Parts: sequence; structure tokens; C-alpha cells
Amino acid sequence: MEAAAEFVVESPDVVYRPEAIEAQYEYRTTRVSREGGVLKVQPTSTRFTFRTARQVPKLGVMLVGWGGNNGSTLTAAVLANRLGLSWPPRTGAEANYYGSLTQASTVNLGMDADGREVFVPFNSLLPMVAANDLVFDGWDISSLNLAQAMRRAQVLDWGLQEQLWSHMETMRPRPSVYMPEFIAANQNTRADNLIPGTRAQQLEQIRKDIRDFRSSAGLDKVIVLWTANTERFCDVVSGRNDTAENLLRTIRLGLEVSPSTLFAVASILEGCAFLNGSPQNTLVPGALELAAKHRVFVGGDDFKSGQTKVKSVLVDFLISSGLKTVSIVSYNHLGNNDGQNLSAPQQFRSKEVSKSSVVDDMVQSNPVLYKPGEEPDHCVVIKYVPYVGDSKRALDEYTSELMLGGTNTLVLHNTCEDSLLATPIMLDLVLLTELCQRVTFCTDTDPEPQSFHSVLSLLSFLFKAPLAPPGSPVINALYRQRSCFENILRACVGLPPQNHMLLEHKME
Ligand code: NAD
Repeated sequence: MEAAAEFVVESPDVVYRPEAIEAQYEYRTTRVSREGGVLKVQPTSTRFTFRTARQVPKLGVMLVGWGGNNGSTLTAAVLANRLGLSWPPRTGAEANYYGSLTQASTVNLGMDADGREVFVPFNSLLPMVAANDLVFDGWDISSLNLAQAMRRAQVLDWGLQEQLWSHMETMRPRPSVYMPEFIAANQNTRADNLIPGTRAQQLEQIRKDIRDFRSSAGLDKVIVLWTANTERFCDVVSGRNDTAENLLRTIRLGLEVSPSTLFAVASILEGCAFLNGSPQNTLVPGALELAAKHRVFVGGDDFKSGQTKVKSVLVDFLISSGLKTVSIVSYNHLGNNDGQNLSAPQQFRSKEVSKSSVVDDMVQSNPVLYKPGEEPDHCVVIKYVPYVGDSKRALDEYTSELMLGGTNTLVLHNTCEDSLLATPIMLDLVLLTELCQRVTFCTDTDPEPQSFHSVLSLLSFLFKAPLAPPGSPVINALYRQRSCFENILRACVGLPPQNHMLLEHKME
């Protein structure tokens, strides 16, 4: 499964040292200015040096919401792959990582002598931690061990669950912070595994848990990933959570802070990257400032798994083809615990907001079709239907205007196990974040080595509502996001961006 075809770039711009790969890279782009009614476009070029440390660490992942459908399924998936399990359901199956960008997709290295394209696994571009080597720990307000949590989730075939049982029943989520007002009231019955005390004491306990995991499992690094219930939004209030200092003060005084923000603060203070897989605004301005101060990566929000992923492809296709999409209506129904939590209005609202801005960049990219301020009608509905369990249904209707008054309506019905879509994304998030922690770069004009911005917008491919550094454009279109990541990793080994021109095949 961990196929990693090796390749070496032979170029005077690339040096393979024992400890790092160093690549000189010419970043060619353009600058546009407006003069009168004319756009002036100037090609620009900046010389970068990228350095990627080659030693991959022993990596631990702490999941907040470890006992949930995603948390238990991710743990089971890595164990099943590590143990090379297969099982006999209706059709027979064996462990794999389908759905993972790093483990199951490829990149194009170029053309061989016969004019054939050569592809290698994405995870062979640069040294990455092997998915099977990840070590898990985490917190949950529910005390069930991971084997019981896997059974409760009803995601995996019974034959697989049976084989995993003994490996997972010894795994127990650490107690967590429960504030009933942030998640739906229907979650109350799960909450039997709690950290007592004041907000400041809870923060200290989370920090202690991270240190304890790091030392007891002999880890080099820990990354924390929020995959717990969707919370309601937290008001951003001046003096409370708008700056790092105010946020820390709020925690000291026991004023309002969400559990997810408390986890983000604890992770940042422990120097661990924090990723938010749910839609709520965990990363309030104060948390972003704290991350920047401590030079820790944060990423979010909300895993981009099913309906939104399709939307970020389909609307890009429609608008970039010159069709005017005028209405997007999306229904979902699901019957897992996430669905039950989202049946409460405030938690649904967080999801609705996260799902709603996904086509903004595509609409704004086309002033031929859309006047300033004009946008398609966009409606999102989510219903809780217990019978369908984790097998989520997403129904979408896309209506676009054709030329000369014509109309095109596309209707999609998407059925799939929600957690089996989200889990590979969680895996990619931690592996790619860890890789980014080993990359530094400088330019000719700024020779001081630096890391990527603490808001790791490179992860946009994996998030529904991607966080980006202030002032930076938010890209939702899926293939722009993928190209961005792939091309930056290519730059780290001195390869030019993928341009798809195939000019060598366009000549006589
Ligand atoms: P789930 O309800 O099965 O799991 C969430 C877990 O979090 C539960 O075990 C719950 O007990 C626990 N929890 C709640 N509050 C907690 C707290 N304060 N501390 C620690 N644990 C806490 O949900 P899921 O299907 O695993 O999804 C997890 C999250 O991921 C949800 O917010 C969901 O919206 C988001 N998400 C899921 C997908 C997907 O496709 N599955 C896609 C995008 C986002």
C-alpha cells in the first residue's frame, strides 16, 4: 500500500544533502496595475531557495472527538492497513487508503523517451511520514473505548470490526471539556468523561495530556485535530477573543471561550499544529495571533468531503465553461451522530455558513457573467434521518443559463459513507501539515529562512471553508487548490509547475 516510487531530480538547481533537499526555484508570475481604462501586466520573477528536511519524525496525532465516527474510523483504518487486514463481506475487501490525496493519488513527473507520461504516487514527491506509522491518542466526552466506539459508529463491516477489536479496546479517550451550550442538547447523554475545574485548569490539563502523550509514546511531534461535534459560533468580541492577550485573559477569568478554542490554545502553547475539521469559528482572531506569535501552524475549517467537494468542481466547470450558474440547491440527509447534532438550529447554522461561501471565488472570477455583487441563489438544507446512519445522501440541483435564453439543470444524487470520505482527508491533513513543518525557504531579496505563514492555507484542498492569511485570496475551486499544493511541493524538488501544455506533442 505504501508504494513510493523513488525518483531523483538531476539538475544543477537541486542538491540532495543527507539532512535536506535544497532546490533553487524561479517563481514566475505577473503583477497587474490599472492605468486609466487599461490593465498593465508585468511578468515578474523571484528566485527562491527551498529546503526540506529529509528526516521524517515519529508522529503522534491527538484527535479531539476520538470516539466519534471519524475518530474511530481513522484509527481503525490505520490499524487495518498496518496489519494488512482483509475480510469477507459481500464482495471481499482489503485495507487501503482510497480517498487520500497523499496515499492514493499520483503526480505527473513528465514524459519518457517514448512520449508516455510518467506518474508517481503523490507521497513520493517529498519525504513524508508513512500513514501506517501514525500513533493515535485523543479526547472524548464519551468514555467508550475505541472498539466500542467503532461498534457504535456502524461504519465498518463486522468482519473487519472483529479483527480490530482487541487492538482497539485498550485505547481509551482522555476526558474532555464539555460545555453543553456549544453543542446540541441531544449530545448530553454521551457526556460521561469530563475534565473538571475552571477554564484555566482545563487548559492546563489539555496541555499536560499533550506532553504526556508525547513522552509516553516517545514521539518527536504531535499534531492536534478537532473532529468533535460541530459547535455553535462564538461571538468575536473586542476585549474577549480579538487578540492573543485578551483570549488568554478570558481563559484565566473563566469568561466565554468554546471548547474547541480552548484546545486550539493548548495546542499552540505546546507548539503543536492545530487543525479544525468542523465548521465553527474555533480559530478566532486571538487564536490566530497566538499561533503567529508561537510560529505554530493552524488550519481549518471543516473537512471538504462530499457535497461541497463536488460543488467546488462542478461550479468551477460550469462558470469556467462560460455558463451562468444561477441557482444551487443542496439537500442532505444523514443518520449518524453528526446528523443528530446538526439537527439543532445553532449547530446547523455553523454548517450552513461553512457550506455557503464555497462558490464565491468562482463567481467573482467571471465579471462577464456576473455583475458586481451578483451571485447565484444558494440554499443548503440538512435533515437528520436515523435510518440511513453514516450513509449520507446529498441531493443537489444546479441551474445555469445557456445562450439565447436556454436553461440547463443538473441533478445529482450522491450516496456514501460519510466517515469513509472524511477519514482519508484527516490523514492527509496531518501528513501534509507535518511535511510543511519541515520546509523552509528564502528569496534573494530576503535571505532569512522562513516557514509558511502560520495560517496554513496550503491545506485549502482539504477544507470546506479554507482559512487564509489576512489579505490573501480564498480559493475554493478544487483543482486550483490541488495545483497550488502540487506545484509548491514540485518547487521544493526544483521541478517546474505542472502546466499541462504538452507542447512537445503539438509540433510537426
Ligand atoms: P461524531 O458525532 O460521530 O463524533 C464526534 C465526537 O466528538 C463524539 O464522539 C462526541 O462524543 C465527541 N465530542 C463532542 N464534544 C466534545 C468535546 N468538547 N471534546 C471531546 N470530544 C467531544 O461526528 P463525526 O461524524 O465523527 O464528525 C466529526 C466532526 O467532523 C463533526 O463536527 C462534523 O460536522 C465534521 N465533519 C465531518 C465530515 C464527514 O464527512 N464525516 C465532513 C466535514 C466535517
